[in-house]
Amino acid sequence: MDLIYSSTRNAKEKVTASQAILKGLAEDGGLFVPDTIPSLDVTIDELADMNYQEVAYAVMKQFLTDFTEEELKNCIKSAYDSKFDTEEIAPLVDADGAYYLELFHGPTIAFKDMALSILPHLLITAARKNQVKNDIVILTATSGDTGKAALAGFADVKGTKIIVFYPKNGVSPIQEKQMVTQKGDNTFVVGINGNFDQAQTGVKKMFQDKDLAAEMDKAGYQFSSANSINIGRLVPQIAYYVYAYAKLYKNGAIKKDEKINVTVPTGNFGNILAAFYAKNMGLPIAKLICASNENKVLYDFFSTGTYDKNREFILTSSPSMDILISSNLERLIYRIAGNDAAKNKEFMTMLTGEGKYAITPEMREQLKDFYGNYTNEAETAEVIKNLYEKTGYVIDTHTAVAAGVYGKYKKETGDTTKTVIASTASPFKFTRSVMDAIDKEKYDAMSDFELVDELSRIANVKVPNAIEEIRSAKVLHDTVCEVNEMPSVVKKFLNM
Ligand SMILES: *Cc1c(COP(=O)(O)O)cnc(C)c1O
Repeated sequence: MDLIYSSTRNAKEKVTASQAILKGLAEDGGLFVPDTIPSLDVTIDELADMNYQEVAYAVMKQFLTDFTEEELKNCIKSAYDSKFDTEEIAPLVDADGAYYLELFHGPTIAFKDMALSILPHLLITAARKNQVKNDIVILTATSGDTGKAALAGFADVKGTKIIVFYPKNGVSPIQEKQMVTQKGDNTFVVGINGNFDQAQTGVKKMFQDKDLAAEMDKAGYQFSSANSINIGRLVPQIAYYVYAYAKLYKNGAIKKDEKINVTVPTGNFGNILAAFYAKNMGLPIAKLICASNENKVLYDFFSTGTYDKNREFILTSSPSMDILISSNLERLIYRIAGNDAAKNKEFMTMLTGEGKYAITPEMREQLKDFYGNYTNEAETAEVIKNLYEKTGYVIDTHTAVAAGVYGKYKKETGDTTKTVIASTASPFKFTRSVMDAIDKEKYDAMSDFELVDELSRIANVKVPNAIEEIRSAKVLHDTVCEVNEMPSVVKKFLNM
């Protein structure tokens, strides 16, 4: 019996896993969610002896039930291979009383690789299963890391094209260089004069544009999404929490069934939602600690029960978390509303209209396992500096936001539960901010690539290939457009 997915906004829209992956977003703008969250059907002892690929299979097969064993194993094998610079895929580093789960060992040195290295394979397999003839056009809005990871995942994948929109002045220089140097005839990168939320809203509008869809179909294309709203991204992310738990158990850091906490630097709410799903699969997780930067809309939500995006958008040193509309939160809202699509839709309509909604006390009651807080810019820099000086371990700005919130949580609660911190980017991806945090005076005058070498020296870590490659790479994409020009840019790229 296949697990069925339905839209968070329409109980009648029901699809299989492969159809949900193909569609990305539901017809009505809702997100696909499984009707129930399946349990793990292997024991922790069994998981402890598995490698990353085997754990990924044990987790993903429970969700993607209309994929055959062979199909799913092939997808996993093609994704988690030598593109990653360690066989462990997601190593754990013990530093200063927390376990950093390094999710940045893939081709673009950010955690988006964990899902985006497998999504193209899931998508192509799903297309084949559903007799899709059209080429798949991936449309993505990025605050920096998704874009490059999606480009790298889809570049030269037959039967696909990928178009990435990013805020022209809202990503780091290294992030931008990584994207605009992307090779592959099927790739297209566009800067917009606007922020990430505008890019995301523009993309969502195109997904819902029925006329555009008909025109595309005529030309032999159909859209799909690589954004973190695609269930094909969420599901692979559950695997690394299970893997981390199994490794802690195997290494003797925790006893059998001992609960752990998980701290996640959060933007679109995808990564922490994956941890929530892992918990609901039966993984012994106690608290889900949601860390925000100064765009602390989620912190305010957890502390007041009101989600309110009406506020200033702040550019921070953790740009991948500069987000005011956390799309994946909708999946949690739907769930705490009792899997009630009509009720969820009301909240989302309020969010679109007034920019805010308040959940009921009964719904708030179900958020007890979440803790939200935020780390401001000065604190983030301090966390990086202190950890480096104390242990020699260098973390990036996003991970530092999480470490800062974890520090606040410990101080507030005295909770000594062992804690995994999701380490979402290599410090080499945000070298300027990281080195400024460590010693601004000393490093201020150095160029970005001088800083890369200096970081390598002080952290005693080899410069990742992803950075080496772009030192000399040519800029291949220079399109910039206004927000309202996004659809015409897409048509032009597709020769429509
Ligand atoms: C995308 C991203 C995040 C936020 O993850 P969400 O799943 O959107 O909450 C955090 N850190 C880095 C480095 C990222 O790229």
